[in-house]
Amino acid sequence: MFLQGKVALVTGSTSGIGLAIAKALAAEGAKLMINGFGDAAALEQECGELGAIHDGADMSKPDEIERMMKRCADELGGPDILVNNAGIQHVSPVDEFPPEKWDAIIAINLSSAFHTTRLAVPGMKQKKWGRVINTASAHSLVASPNKSAYVAAKHGIAGFTKTVALETARDGITANCISPGYVWTPLVEAQIPDTMKTRGLTREQVMNDVLLAAQPTKKFVTPEQVGALVVFLCRDDAASITGANLSMDGGWTAA
Ligand code: NAD
Repeated sequence: MFLQGKVALVTGSTSGIGLAIAKALAAEGAKLMINGFGDAAALEQECGELGAIHDGADMSKPDEIERMMKRCADELGGPDILVNNAGIQHVSPVDEFPPEKWDAIIAINLSSAFHTTRLAVPGMKQKKWGRVINTASAHSLVASPNKSAYVAAKHGIAGFTKTVALETARDGITANCISPGYVWTPLVEAQIPDTMKTRGLTREQVMNDVLLAAQPTKKFVTPEQVGALVVFLCRDDAASITGANLSMDGGWTAA
């Protein structure tokens, strides 16, 4: 329970990877603010299980992010640990890519991390301790067709993370990103129908020949594995890891 007394805010933590990260941090004693969409009963249950409070701020809206960050500071303090994880996907060739989807992906997957970070860093500097952990993706290092906005946002967050790491290096703060390959979550499941349509493939072909084609282990990463790496990055043992882009992709980007 080495995170007792620390406050963690995990964006997009009502599902998938974010939920697993929230569970892993709560298991080490962190006080949690969770964020994301979901039905009221499920959110209440999740808050009960984690001893967390939920804020439904829409990560595409800077004013809602500001309100959430102020609420976190007022009601819990901190955050000491900020995990920028909220993300969406849209799969389409660039010449057919809907501009409003581009804007939403850049806002949620990239700009939201700027807004939370700029508001969290002053408190971390004051305490001389902080962790900024961004869920990037193998797509922060390599591209795939039909994911122009996602790949742009993820390359962007990798660069943003390095800059924050340099600026906070003397303040007891580390900033890193984790870059998973394909993790079996609702986000991945949701892109199967579009990929079937754009590439004319069956569900099995999309899973084996597209999603896991690039992952040499031929296994999906698990959300719990990502949660465990986040917990490690919060340890004092990880104090010298900053500005890193940590791949967890079954060997994908080694190829
Ligand atoms: P998911 O769809 O299961 O969860 C996404 C979370 O973000 C949910 O809690 C959702 O409510 C929240 N969210 C979406 N839009 C939001 C908004 N506007 N405001 C606030 N919350 C919002 O997805 P996931 O697979 O767990 O993905 C989480 C992160 O991991 C994303 O940044 C994604 O790009 C990244 N990632 C996922 C994979 C993968 O294979 N699943 C691989 C690499 C990186």
